[in-house]
Amino acid sequence: MTASAPPAPFRQGAGRLCLDFIRTLRHRGTPGAVEELDDPAALDAWIRQFGPYDTPSDGTARGAGRDGGRADAADLLAARALREAIHRLVTAALDGGPAACDPASRDLVNAAAARPVPVPALDPAGRLRHHAAEPAAAMLAVLARDALDLVTSAALDRVRACAGERCGALFLDTSRPGTRRWCSMNTCGNRAKKDALHARGHAPA
Ligand SMILES: [Zn+2]
Repeated sequence: MTASAPPAPFRQGAGRLCLDFIRTLRHRGTPGAVEELDDPAALDAWIRQFGPYDTPSDGTARGAGRDGGRADAADLLAARALREAIHRLVTAALDGGPAACDPASRDLVNAAAARPVPVPALDPAGRLRHHAAEPAAAMLAVLARDALDLVTSAALDRVRACAGERCGALFLDTSRPGTRRWCSMNTCGNRAKKDALHARGHAPA
């Protein structure tokens, strides 16, 4: 991302694409759950931020008629359904291995993974471009494949639940000792540090 790019609207840094995706339901499992994919435009924005598609950098309208846009209401429903199925798959795999996933969630992830993924092509200027006839569905296929790979690989042993209160995020712990506790030091880790300082009476002014 260049310095002039707008700030990324969605949180990233979970270490796996499918884990970043399931964080679009914030505070999952709590009364304060927040849906970040609240309309098709939000799904488009998520795909622009995380997807492989080229996005215009010349100030032209984003989305219309280009790869990476436009998602419709059906794409949005499919994205949320897949997101929740991936979450159930990953949490089941953490509890008892991938075979512990409920059949409906497994079928849903498998079906999404079977769809065509974005196709890479080198353009005359030497840039890699990705194209898909159905960009949103193709992005969901990428996410489903990432989830299937994650739950059947050694990386599963490194998936952690953030220790942040109400956070609910899962992340891949790539630290050497494997003792990372927070989805992000900038958010949950920082808050916990401040809380600990406050509890000891050393809160900064
Ligand atoms: Zn967190």
